[in-house]
Amino acid sequence: MNEQPHIILVGAGLAGSLLAISLAKKGFRVDVYERRPDMRAVEISAGRSINLALSVRGIHALKDVGLFDDIAPKLLPMRGRMIHAVTGERVFSQYGKDATEVINSVSRADLNMRLLDLAESQSGVRIHFQQRCTGIDLASGAVRLRDETDGREYTATADTVIGTDGSASAIRAEMQNLDGFTVTEDILEHGYKELVIPAGPGGKFLLESDALHIWPRHAFMMIALPNIDKTFTCTLFLAHEGEQSFASLDTPARVRDFFAAQFPDAVPLMPTLEETFFANPTGSLATVRCRPWHAGGTVALLGDASHAIVPFFGQGMNCAFEDCTVLSECINRHGTDWDKVYRAYDELRKPNADAIADLALENFIEMRDRVTDAHFLLTKAVGLALEQRFPDRFVPKYSMVSFHRVPYAVAQRRGRIQDDILDHLCANISRVEDVDWQHAGVLVREMLIPLADYAAVY
Ligand SMILES: Cc1cc2nc3c(=O)[nH]c(=O)nc-3n(C[C@H](O)[C@H](O)[C@H](O)COP(=O)(O)OP(=O)(O)OC[C@H]3O[C@@H](n4cnc5c(N)ncnc54)[C@H](O)[C@@H]3O)c2cc1C
Repeated sequence: MNEQPHIILVGAGLAGSLLAISLAKKGFRVDVYERRPDMRAVEISAGRSINLALSVRGIHALKDVGLFDDIAPKLLPMRGRMIHAVTGERVFSQYGKDATEVINSVSRADLNMRLLDLAESQSGVRIHFQQRCTGIDLASGAVRLRDETDGREYTATADTVIGTDGSASAIRAEMQNLDGFTVTEDILEHGYKELVIPAGPGGKFLLESDALHIWPRHAFMMIALPNIDKTFTCTLFLAHEGEQSFASLDTPARVRDFFAAQFPDAVPLMPTLEETFFANPTGSLATVRCRPWHAGGTVALLGDASHAIVPFFGQGMNCAFEDCTVLSECINRHGTDWDKVYRAYDELRKPNADAIADLALENFIEMRDRVTDAHFLLTKAVGLALEQRFPDRFVPKYSMVSFHRVPYAVAQRRGRIQDDILDHLCANISRVEDVDWQHAGVLVREMLIPLADYAAVY
């Protein structure tokens, strides 16, 4: 008889495959049901974005399961944002205080495949591909499944079930039938489309590979992240409907004219622009908020299934990976008392998921609208200078989210206080050298307690 506790995960995406590894390392038996075919055997689109920005929270979780050293050679560090104006002028603005503070472009497919490899190499983990979850009996925890290869319907049971089935979660849909369960889904009016800048002659990058490139145009924007094959994946974020929208870009000539007017320096680098534009789908973006994230000890939600967010802070995956870290800590504390485990996890995590959802929406405005503004760039520079002088207390909001494992809700709260300090200090100056540092010191010490005081609180 097998005495190991048995867990079902629904979804072998980024969060599900990482969680399977973490649970197996604790000695659990894990069955993962994934609706898609095995991406290591069949070439399928990895899902939403081709590449992602991995930062400290994701890195910590990968280190926890021993995968980071394996992934590290595949990462492309990005030191800051390169802003491209319509005139072709470019301005670089550093993300962190020094060369160690970078975000990393990584291929979603590569990362997911390595996670699947490691998950399957753990004794006790089995991944069942092409098995779609169609619902769950919330009283018994029996998961309803359909074999996509032959249409067979069946159920599977375990000691507990975790839905890691992404933003359109079938498990969450079933939980909507619970008394007291609330869910909101706010669909952004902007959609996205991925495009490509190929490698240049001699297999070289055509833009700086150590930056995240942004073409901010107020109502819309394009970004580009480097890939290991020396290409860039560009993502156009644009309204679905309206005068300047995906709906209005309905012929190759309109696409070319729009790009020539808005992104003139990028167009010569995109020889397949029109073909790629019409070949690639237009995706939708949404913020999903729900609660509770569990039904007793029977079932819980993790990753996008519990908190899908818009991608403008590059945190969806990082947040999902941090969920795994926190859930693992809750299991260490409460063992297999799943009701207690999930209650603790929900209480620790929900305020932070709400905070990063808000921060991600705010960052969309910042990225598409404010990054070209001279005053905005001044406040960024002053923020980094304040960090140099008062490193224990003043850490810019972007850095707290991307380079420190400060709870997102704390980053949000301190970020607001710091914005007030920056507004005050930068009100009547145009150069970093003109900051009144003595006054700055008084404000920082009065308004911010040392950041380390929050260190291990999730
Ligand atoms: C354009 C874009 C850019 C992004 N950029 C970043 C970034 O730079 N950095 C970052 O941290 N995050 C980024 N994200 C967010 C990130 O993609 C998600 O947060 C992350 O994929 C969440 O992982 P997950 O495992 O929860 O969900 P998913 O990765 O969506 O995985 C869910 C899995 O469940 C499977 N599944 C779904 N339904 C069922 C079912 N009924 N039965 C069985 N299996 C099912 C799916 O096939 C999939 O494999 C971006 C997102 C988008 C859209």
